[in-house]
Amino acid sequence: MAVESSLAAPLMEVFASIQGEGLYVGEPQVFVRLRGCPLRCRWCDTPGSWKLDGSEREVRIESRAGLRRAPSWSTPFQTACWIAECEPGRPRTVSVTGGEPLLWPDYVRALASFATPRRIHLETAGAHPRALADVLDVVAHVSLDLKLPDDMDEPVEIAPAESEPVPRTRAEWAEVRAECLALVRGRDACAKVIVSGGRKPEQFDELLESVAEHAPALPVFVQPATPIGAVPAPSIELCTAVAERARALDLSVRVLPQIHRILGIP
Ligand code: SF4
Repeated sequence: MAVESSLAAPLMEVFASIQGEGLYVGEPQVFVRLRGCPLRCRWCDTPGSWKLDGSEREVRIESRAGLRRAPSWSTPFQTACWIAECEPGRPRTVSVTGGEPLLWPDYVRALASFATPRRIHLETAGAHPRALADVLDVVAHVSLDLKLPDDMDEPVEIAPAESEPVPRTRAEWAEVRAECLALVRGRDACAKVIVSGGRKPEQFDELLESVAEHAPALPVFVQPATPIGAVPAPSIELCTAVAERARALDLSVRVLPQIHRILGIP
């Protein structure tokens, strides 16, 4: 494992694309996808990012000069250089995604410094409130997934030693959700609620009520799950019913499918 610095983190890919989800949907961005995720969402579309078992040898870099690979563990400075190599024109907003980027808060902080003047947007599952608090002052936007405990399989302990414990029970999820929502309250942020087929609208009340209580002005995106494995797509009636339940709580809500899937881009 070629770790060049204590701030290094394992990367999966760096590429330019169009943001397909959330508040900045449609914005041309550069994506930095980090490896490692202890969660196991049943509708996860990037299971290749989960593991930190020594098999994470390479990062894919879709630079202007073409696709190439490099050792996965990257310093923030090296990542900033790759970001510049991927940008087709002027500097873009950088979306730091995963995996779970909050396994690597020191890396995210340093990347924000090396990538300046670009905006850093963070996409997180919202399971690590302490790490979120650590990076809030360097990220311009937070996109917070609100996880339905029913959509999660048992988490896996893969986190770096100093990382926070992963929520496991419904009560623990409620606690970290409340903490993360309180942290992004009043900031440039949004929440995503992934809706898969077979759910009932009222199952989402625990998520929506958390937003209403802890961050009532936060834009909420109801995102129909892209079908994967045994997880079916939801009906539009289900998505609409979830949106109506959000509206009943006076939340600002939009139903938005993953645009990058429709466009057929990464
Ligand atoms: S948190 Fe993200 S990367 Fe981790 S399992 Fe869920 S969807 Fe996949």
